[in-house]
Amino acid sequence: MNLSHRIRHLTGSSSDGWEVFYRARRMIDAGHAITELTIGEHDTRTDPSILAVMEASARAGHTGYAMVPGIDLLRDTVAARIQLRTGVPTTRDNVIITPGGQAGLFAAHTAVCDPGDTGLYLDPYYATYPGTIRGAGAVAKRIETRAEDAFQPRASDIDAAAHGAVSLLINTPSNPTGVVYSPETLSAIADVCQHRDLWLISDEVYDTQVWEGEHLSPRALPNMVERTLVVGSMSKSHAMTGSRCGWIVAPESVIEHLITLATHTTYGVPGFIQDAANFALSAGQSLEDKIAEPFRRRRALAVEVLAAQQTVSLIPAQGAMYLMLDIRATGLSGESFANALLDTHAIAVMPGESFGAAAAGHIRVAMTIADEKFVASLQKLCDFASQLAESR
Ligand code: PLP
Repeated sequence: MNLSHRIRHLTGSSSDGWEVFYRARRMIDAGHAITELTIGEHDTRTDPSILAVMEASARAGHTGYAMVPGIDLLRDTVAARIQLRTGVPTTRDNVIITPGGQAGLFAAHTAVCDPGDTGLYLDPYYATYPGTIRGAGAVAKRIETRAEDAFQPRASDIDAAAHGAVSLLINTPSNPTGVVYSPETLSAIADVCQHRDLWLISDEVYDTQVWEGEHLSPRALPNMVERTLVVGSMSKSHAMTGSRCGWIVAPESVIEHLITLATHTTYGVPGFIQDAANFALSAGQSLEDKIAEPFRRRRALAVEVLAAQQTVSLIPAQGAMYLMLDIRATGLSGESFANALLDTHAIAVMPGESFGAAAAGHIRVAMTIADEKFVASLQKLCDFASQLAESR
């Protein structure tokens, strides 16, 4: 019996750079004290006020099948939020609630790509991107961005790769780089999408975590509404990673088909989760700021630590919960550096290579541990890098 080619080839066969992560996890299981700066998960849990609404909703009986497109209340809230942020008229008919942003990314690609079509994505990338595109039956085509451009994509590179492609996936603020695309970058991307007739799938799950500049959604750009699918999520903005609640905002005609897809795949999101999400979004900016605050604080602390040395340089950390550090001065690859750091200092970071070839010679540090320990670990990391660089 053969499994489908699609499922067997969802991920590439070569080393994917996640060995360091799994090794760190095995060391923890074996009782070693490892400082984990790997995963994009808050060190705070879902706010008790959100949990209280979730529990009350479940106890009130919202545990049965919910409306497949999402409950009206939450669709309206998401629509109002997106309209406020983009200035583009948005109604519940432009919104489908999905079981997290990841399911949204898969559904969005399924909506716009036929089997064999080419879906573009930018390297460095969030780890699931190529597999998500392949899962939708499309061919995932990578476009490299450059460290010297602070990983802001060049429109000319996208244009050169776009012939015959049907979609482009972008992510700002970016995981793994922490970069926020500038208005110039986004406007150039929009031009390429129009010129090459590409759908734009815009992953905006970190839109509440911006430390420098402003988040701009391409949905707000001229002539982009009809070709843009925005993917959003409660995971990062409200520390609700386990609740699995996100959305897609798109033209009405796309949402209609996505509802049919959801009917035949996920069958929606639990009502008590949606009630909690609606409460969380309606609680306003202060709750989002409270959740983003530790990352804002640690990012400022990191800038101070990094300014005091010359070996490790920071890709401008403009948003999201990560730092992308250039460790090429040590002479090591990101993977070798991460392995050596784990062995000598019991600190686990992600090699840049885990997120694509464009991030080789870099490491990604998640700002997801308490401030004092975070600063001490970063200091150790920098000292270690300096020793390596000196001994070259
Ligand atoms: N997109 C990016 C860039 C992410 O970093 C993540 C999770 O880490 C997701 C999407 C998926 O998030 P979720 O499915 O929890 O909404």
